[in-house]
Amino acid sequence: LSDRLSGIFDRLTRRGSLSAEDVDAALREIRRALLEADVALEVVRPFVERIKEKAVGVEIIRSVTPGQMVVKIVHDELVATLGEEAVPIDLHATPPVAVMMVGLQGSGKTTTTAKIARRFTTRDKRKVLMASLDTRRPAAMEQLKVLGEENGIETLKIVPGQTPTQIAERAMTAGRLGGYDVVILDTAGRLHVDEALMHEMADIKRIADPHEILLVADALTGQDAVKVARSFDERVGVTGIVLTRVDGDGRGGAALSMRAVTGKPIKLIGVGERADALEDFYPKRIADRILGMGDIVSLVEKAAANIDQEQAEAMAKKLQKGSFDLEDLKSQLQQMEKLGGLSGLMGMMPGVGKARKQMEAAGVDDRIVKRQVAIINSMTPKERRKPELMKASRKKRVAAGSGTRVEEVNKLLKMHRQMADMMKSMGKKKGGLAGMLGGM
Ligand code: GDP
Ligand code: MG
Repeated sequence: LSDRLSGIFDRLTRRGSLSAEDVDAALREIRRALLEADVALEVVRPFVERIKEKAVGVEIIRSVTPGQMVVKIVHDELVATLGEEAVPIDLHATPPVAVMMVGLQGSGKTTTTAKIARRFTTRDKRKVLMASLDTRRPAAMEQLKVLGEENGIETLKIVPGQTPTQIAERAMTAGRLGGYDVVILDTAGRLHVDEALMHEMADIKRIADPHEILLVADALTGQDAVKVARSFDERVGVTGIVLTRVDGDGRGGAALSMRAVTGKPIKLIGVGERADALEDFYPKRIADRILGMGDIVSLVEKAAANIDQEQAEAMAKKLQKGSFDLEDLKSQLQQMEKLGGLSGLMGMMPGVGKARKQMEAAGVDDRIVKRQVAIINSMTPKERRKPELMKASRKKRVAAGSGTRVEEVNKLLKMHRQMADMMKSMGKKKGGLAGMLGGM
């Protein structure tokens, strides 16, 4: 794949924005990469369409090629689609909270049941009961019992001859009577999705009223992932997905397929056979894996960071000249937000400790940066260039326009004055701003 892509990447780096041709050329390869990673065709198609709409016209970061730029956009969209944040298993319900595990045979339900039970027990200090409702495979109940013994987790007593729903009922009663916080129901799977399985799951759901229904699926599931996820979600309703065998060499396309068709979060991943091989889901990791172009993504990220750096340097030069107006303060504030707070431009300056204290005293706080930007936005261009124009009536107008108070406007103006003074004096000092810029 890299060979094929390099053709596109070797093209002369140029400035400007992504053209439809750039995007099409790159997307042909991206499409192939997604299919090779086993993302379902019906998911790939709309995904690629969405990228096309987003990518055409996007400004190309200097020092990267159009193809690389598209890869970065694809990567970001993958992360967004997979879900930016980890969603934990929700136990906020009246105990015993039932968690029902569903999925095809061999997907890893029983193993994951023990993994989750272990996590709840050791990390969250919950009292957990595991119950096997798998009456189909003779050794299934014994398998869970052994896992329980190995990990110090209680399992429901095995009573031969009961139906899955009878066991579910008994498990919930035992959970109540035994004062358990959580009851995990490990169900039976089938080799393929079928009616009997869906009926069985619906019956168990009715009896146990689970707070979470976790679909357990093998990361190596290929094009079938869509069908499996859709069936379980439509017929039983799932609240989350657990992706197993992420330690294998599958590219994890199933994650995208299942997330795309159900919209349900991937909550956990299984990364081995042992009971502690359970991790939270990080979309970036799976996105890297699906795309298999982690290097390119970090290259573009680095290039973007360089651009930010260049903008910061240009700003510093301007400050040195002593012409620091409110427009500059605004981009400064926005830059800060982007760079993660006060550590932005100020962080690159000598004597920064003192400056930071001054700014904090003047009320620069990451939470209120947005309000400060709003205040500046409510000023006329002339006011921004000449802050000394800001007299009482203008302050009132700006406060009203930005939904803030005059007091806050005053604070902002004071902060600007302090910063402008400080920058001027630093600019004059030898080894101050000038020295810093020389050293970059
Ligand atoms: P079930 O039929 O859905 O209950 O599946 P099991 O829990 O019995 O798992 C089937 C097989 O997959 C067992 O050999 C497990 O050890 C293995 N397995 C489950 N999860 C993982 C995982 O995350 N990584 C690896 N490598 N193997 C797993
Ligand atoms: Mg099982």
